[in-house]
Amino acid sequence: MFDVTFLGTGGSIPTKGRNLPAIAVQHKGWVLLLDAGEDVQRQLETANIGLNKRMRIFITHIHADHLIGLPGLLLRFSLLGRQRPLKIFGPSGLVEYIRVNQKTIHLGTTFETTVYGVEEGVLFEDNGLSVRAFEVDHRGKAFGFEIRYQRATGTFLPDKARELGVPEGPQWKSLSDGQSVKLDDGTVIQPEQVTEAKPAPVKIVYSGDTRPCENLREAARNANLLISEAMYAEEHRDLAEERGHMTAIQAAEIARDANVGLLVLTHYSPRYETEMGEPILAEAREVFGNSILARDLMQIRVEQDETKVEG
Ligand SMILES: [Zn+2]
Ligand SMILES: [Zn+2]
Repeated sequence: MFDVTFLGTGGSIPTKGRNLPAIAVQHKGWVLLLDAGEDVQRQLETANIGLNKRMRIFITHIHADHLIGLPGLLLRFSLLGRQRPLKIFGPSGLVEYIRVNQKTIHLGTTFETTVYGVEEGVLFEDNGLSVRAFEVDHRGKAFGFEIRYQRATGTFLPDKARELGVPEGPQWKSLSDGQSVKLDDGTVIQPEQVTEAKPAPVKIVYSGDTRPCENLREAARNANLLISEAMYAEEHRDLAEERGHMTAIQAAEIARDANVGLLVLTHYSPRYETEMGEPILAEAREVFGNSILARDLMQIRVEQDETKVEG
């Protein structure tokens, strides 16, 4: 359903084991890249995510640690002769940032790049897959992203279809894809007549950089997976507030209150790394047991009824 790969999980500066923020969400041939921290091109390659796939890039905010990997990625795409057009979405400052950086790609790009300076709302939709930006509370304009997949119909019921006289074949396919069909005698059959009820959407929410805020709480409601920043441990709660971030406990409280399936803590300060992020994780788990710590190249598969860490 969704394959989520953490390409960078650091906060502010890269460390030996952690690149800067970037997450690839793959779904049916699409790669949705959330943030593009430094060296994201190499991480994509290491993770074996093809560089000529259908891709949309979503940048949470104009802070260097979240977008400095973009020029390198564009250069790489050009060197590889990428042809597929690329669309990049983010706060309005992104348009100028890309324009300036494109000048440094002296051979020019081999593909069309469109950059959209956006406000909150749905940014992308394709066959039940969608990405919505919501404003969060950081420093300057910053977004979180909600990625959903909503199946068009529930499971197809062949017996019902036969009962109603729909012949096996292309019409079955149309109905299970959510389209109505017309039989030879003129009767119109709606997909709801031959399918189970639609399942709930599968939902992944990425906080970006933010203090705890209402928009994030709302977006996270019943998410299968919440990927939240957790820059600080509780002893530094004052710093979190001052710098527009949150603590692991605050992230866990959001996950608990929003009834999420799994909480992944990312973008935590390198200061906790000497202890392998333990204080961050231990504090979060006191509040929300289903919390794990993100690490670079970790993969999570998110399905309708199961979210599991695969590597
Ligand atoms: Zn950041
Ligand atoms: Zn930031």
